[in-house]
Amino acid sequence: MSIKIENLTHVYMKRSPFEKKALDDVSLTINDGEFVALIGHTGSGKSTLIQHINGLLKPESGRIVVDDVDITAKDVKLNAIRKKVGLVFQYSEYQLFEETIEKDIAFGPKNLGLGEVEVQERVKRAMNLVGLDYETYKSKSPFDLSGGQKRRVAIAGVVAMEPKILILDEPTAGLDPKGRDDILRQIKTLHKAYNMTIILVSHSMEDVAKVADRILVMHKGKCILDGMPSKIFKEIDTLESVGLAVPQVTYLMKSLKNKGFDISDEAFTVEQAKDEIIKFLRSKSND
Ligand code: ADP
Repeated sequence: MSIKIENLTHVYMKRSPFEKKALDDVSLTINDGEFVALIGHTGSGKSTLIQHINGLLKPESGRIVVDDVDITAKDVKLNAIRKKVGLVFQYSEYQLFEETIEKDIAFGPKNLGLGEVEVQERVKRAMNLVGLDYETYKSKSPFDLSGGQKRRVAIAGVVAMEPKILILDEPTAGLDPKGRDDILRQIKTLHKAYNMTIILVSHSMEDVAKVADRILVMHKGKCILDGMPSKIFKEIDTLESVGLAVPQVTYLMKSLKNKGFDISDEAFTVEQAKDEIIKFLRSKSND
């Protein structure tokens, strides 16, 4: 179940004074089960790219092959693609509309034509995976929840459709640090529990460093860097030249190293930095 993107170009408002090339000859492959982060400045083309992966947008040129099906072909059945590719939009909680949490999450699976028992099972599983107890929350109104909880209900609604590929557009935007960490942890759990392919759109290197196995950096409609976090975070100059940065803790470790501390600067999360610093302090106390 790979995603093959071949020479993808997208132009908005073609032949108008507002014509904008949002994607420019993008080619890449995302393999089954990968956890990929798509990062880039506002306007770099991230949302345009992900909307092509579930067929919401059609390319100007190029093609996308999901699971051996060319989803850019004229006669493609988009319903089948949308069963496989779940998309959680930015500020997805604004799309909640049912009177109870259970009904809201059940909406997608019901539309897949599943029976009542299967729908209920899926709702329970999805709620469990996003950390909402079924019995406690099923009959509550989604509008009585906190911002972070509402977003989790919205994510559960897509998860309950059990897509093989889950795309999340800025799922932590606007949440407080605890809400962000909770959502990221749950996305990581989803990745493991369902062996889903995850594409996480973000502009936070801190978030991406915590969860992704691979990072794609977008700039002006092109994918300019592609690799493991350890490779991408070495490209400080390139990242800074496109308005991005490595995680703050990586800057700290680099400046400690530059000041002569015998310490690894390959730490991208606070946890990794803590381990490195403890290792360094232990080695000093043994000297
Ligand atoms: P990102 O998700 O990285 O912020 P987008 O894919 O939303 O980037 O946008 C890429 C470029 O396309 C930007 O210059 C943006 O202004 C333009 N764009 C996005 N959506 C539209 C649209 N519906 N109509 C016209 N231009 C758009």
